[in-house]
Amino acid sequence: MAKPRIATTSLCGCFGCHMSLLDIDERILQLVELVEFDRSPINDWKEIQADVDVGLIEGGCCNEENVEVLRRFRARCKVLVSVGDCAINGGIPALRNLVPLSECLEEAYLNGPTVVNPGGRIPDDPEIPLLLDRVYPCHEVVRIDHYLPGCPPSADALWAALTALLGGRAPELPYELVKYD
Ligand code: SF4
Repeated sequence: MAKPRIATTSLCGCFGCHMSLLDIDERILQLVELVEFDRSPINDWKEIQADVDVGLIEGGCCNEENVEVLRRFRARCKVLVSVGDCAINGGIPALRNLVPLSECLEEAYLNGPTVVNPGGRIPDDPEIPLLLDRVYPCHEVVRIDHYLPGCPPSADALWAALTALLGGRAPELPYELVKYD
């Protein structure tokens, strides 16, 4: 019987949630036995190859490329999980939602105390994905099936959620795995 397929990606995140997944330590050998990895920074596959059973999304959407990747994930994943606070509510990158985008760009490229920009130009090369007006949590862009909070969620929380989903159950994590004090 074919193994379930898993895909993961990082949108506007710091890869800390992926590092937490790697923190499952020796259980990664068990995971490799249980699943096939599709697109993921872990194997460096850039595109989803086939429909997958579980997709894990780290990070929210700050630019048009994030939105495109997230929509492609949604279309290919039976179950899609927002992993970590950036995916769930925008996280640290969403601090920029407090000021207009034009002000952020001016501070970053023109007016900031450490800026050296003799040309006085804000980068606008067409190769650079367009920034969105604000940072959006994933559920405001596509339907999300489950949420795994934390910054990052612990390796144990990720393991418990993944094994539940692979067993066909909704993840119901005990208090110890979702408390942050
Ligand atoms: S939730 Fe935390 S660890 Fe995960 S991508 Fe965001 S900042 Fe990084």
